[in-house]
Amino acid sequence: MAFQNLPTNPTDSQEKAALAGVLLAEQEATKAGDASIMQNAGYQVVQIEPSIPGVTGSGVNGATTRCALKNGRRNGPDFEINSGASRSLSQYADTTLHEFGHAMDDLLGNYTPSGNNGSSFSNSIDGQAAILSDYMRMGTTNDAIYINSINNGDIVADLYEAIMANDAGRGSDTIVNVNVSATKMLADFGITAGEVKDALTAARNNAAIGVFKGTRDCSQPFNFNLNPTFFEVQQAL
Ligand SMILES: [Zn+2]
Repeated sequence: MAFQNLPTNPTDSQEKAALAGVLLAEQEATKAGDASIMQNAGYQVVQIEPSIPGVTGSGVNGATTRCALKNGRRNGPDFEINSGASRSLSQYADTTLHEFGHAMDDLLGNYTPSGNNGSSFSNSIDGQAAILSDYMRMGTTNDAIYINSINNGDIVADLYEAIMANDAGRGSDTIVNVNVSATKMLADFGITAGEVKDALTAARNNAAIGVFKGTRDCSQPFNFNLNPTFFEVQQAL
């Protein structure tokens, strides 16, 4: 099953590169088993846009909405890819994998070493401990580049991007948020990357029995801490 809402006949060269990149990422996520996990959970629509409305700041390459809540309503795109970002096909693929990484982070809370955390992998006790262990181990020469990724809640999405790019033979690709290669990030965050890989394996093994159906977490949108009732009200409007 393909993600929906992609342009069928792009005219602009950047839109063409973005579309090819999204399709490559989708192919890789499908092969890994993650596309069906995301789609069963409720992440279904990728949209390519010349800019991302409501998201400010230059260099924003993509966005993921935990509950497809856009401009105060549901049924917006789940993943948005900025075709105005002037990037290459493989960079668009990696951006898309990063956005998929936010969705997978959301869905992997029950697959940490002690399990049943319920929340996202990065917010779980195990996830936080692993991230901190890796971070403390690095020392000042390497740790500064990862601060934004950790503080912005991007660290697991960045690691998913690195894992998937590396698995596809693109280990030398730059992970844009941290400006190091996929292979370097995976080495620096070895403990966390190992736990994310184990979580992915467990999740992929369980995907066939439908445990992810409708499990997308609407109560914890990214970077906000609002009561879920708020979203039900927005939906009703
Ligand atoms: Zn991100």
